[in-house]
Amino acid sequence: MEIRKIGVVGAGQMGSGIAQVAAQAGYAVVLRDLEESFVERGLSTIRRSLAKLLEKGRLDQATHDASLERIQTTLQLSDLSDCDLVIEAIVESEPAKNELFRDLDPLLKPTAILASNTSSIPITRLASVTKRPERFIGMHFMNPVPLMELVEVIRGYLTSDETTQAVLEAARRMGKTPVEVNDYPGFVSNRVLLPMINEAIQCVMEGVATPEAIDQIMKLGMNHPMGPLTLADFIGLDTCLSIMEVLHRGLGDDKYRPSPLLRKMVQAGLYGRKSGRGFYRYDEKGNKIG
Ligand code: NAD
Repeated sequence: MEIRKIGVVGAGQMGSGIAQVAAQAGYAVVLRDLEESFVERGLSTIRRSLAKLLEKGRLDQATHDASLERIQTTLQLSDLSDCDLVIEAIVESEPAKNELFRDLDPLLKPTAILASNTSSIPITRLASVTKRPERFIGMHFMNPVPLMELVEVIRGYLTSDETTQAVLEAARRMGKTPVEVNDYPGFVSNRVLLPMINEAIQCVMEGVATPEAIDQIMKLGMNHPMGPLTLADFIGLDTCLSIMEVLHRGLGDDKYRPSPLLRKMVQAGLYGRKSGRGFYRYDEKGNKIG
């Protein structure tokens, strides 16, 4: 099945990036959010990002202009009805996603594919609220979408081979490298990454080393581009906690128990970069202080 038109629901951090890479790949894109100001904010993010690529010579003027022209914005769900693929990137709330999929499913063509960019909710469970579980799949883009190469493609229990192939092909056309995985808690990316971050937090709690020392060890010794605690602040400590809870609940093994320090910092409102303080401190622009 050929994908020509892509709908993106949610014009936040991830949705705006997905709309941008889809438009750059030549797809017609419909970007939907709940309020005009949210759609506008998403569009300005896209404009800024495309302008930067143009400035760096990674995009020519014609592609820049054509990409912007390919993005149509809307507040109406019904404007997604002729899309071949709809990628959901709204808030990480299962009730909110379920409500959206219930409303969207009957509006779409029978052949259309629904994809979720969820970081942690089981794809099989999300698919079950629709009447198209074989045409439902996870497309887990990484942040920031325009720069990160990976798309983790998650097959739900009933996802068909045809759907998987169509989505792998679309991700490749968007310049990404898709990697196929099955639907288990945290998929692969978060199941491997988050326990490492959690262990680094546990080291801080036990006084094994300072956050700076832990980050330096992982950067210099393991060649990680960013230390685990800097990364935790970047992801958001609240998000890290909720993913650890998904792993702990879903896999039932105490090796996934969230660090008590992580819990305490979230209770104290230290969410990392977005709140100005986590393991490090940040100014209003999100730059590390000191
Ligand atoms: P965000 O808060 O930046 O954006 C969410 C947007 O969705 C908001 O603009 C909100 O108004 C909109 N929205 C909410 N309900 C809607 C609805 N019913 N219809 C249309 N729009 C709606 O969130 P984000 O960081 O872009 O995350 C989106 C999804 O991507 C989440 O599922 C998240 O887990 C996942 N994800 C995030 C990251 C990340 O690093 N931020 C990485 C991978 C995956």
